[in-house]
Amino acid sequence: MTYYQHILVAVDFSDHATEVANAAKQIAEQNQAKLSIVYVVDNLPITDANYGPIPFDVDFTQELLDNAKNRLTQFAADLGIPEGRQWLEMGSPKQEIVRVADENQVDLIVIGSHGRHGLALLLGSTANGVLHHAKCDVLAVRLKG
Ligand code: AMP
Repeated sequence: MTYYQHILVAVDFSDHATEVANAAKQIAEQNQAKLSIVYVVDNLPITDANYGPIPFDVDFTQELLDNAKNRLTQFAADLGIPEGRQWLEMGSPKQEIVRVADENQVDLIVIGSHGRHGLALLLGSTANGVLHHAKCDVLAVRLKG
């Protein structure tokens, strides 16, 4: 099977992130495709227009980003993904995942059916948003529990 050439896996570091990543890695190997990874830091006040011009703590923001970068670097290393294909973004996860895919000629996005936001919905809001807006194929790994 060599259908896909560039696969992007979106991870949120929830309990299921490894399962999603392993599925993406396997599909990449079967397709002899490149594998990239994206994590979006989504809880910065500065990125949410609804918060208005409230002050935010620059040190705290930097610490959050540094922490996210470390986690992503470690996670990607375990998957054998080089630094040039690791994307740490800020903003709305669904928008950023789709943007990274668009800008890097990704032809398959792999996401979990749900993530940190739990099983309240059959398909989580990020998964749903990516499915609606992506221009390429999307695979939602069905996560149980
Ligand atoms: P959700 O729809 O938020 O429950 O999450 C579904 C899936 O979307 C997760 O399993 C991840 O694959 C992906 N995802 C959610 N949040 C993020 C994020 N902040 N960064 C990257 N991927 C995410």
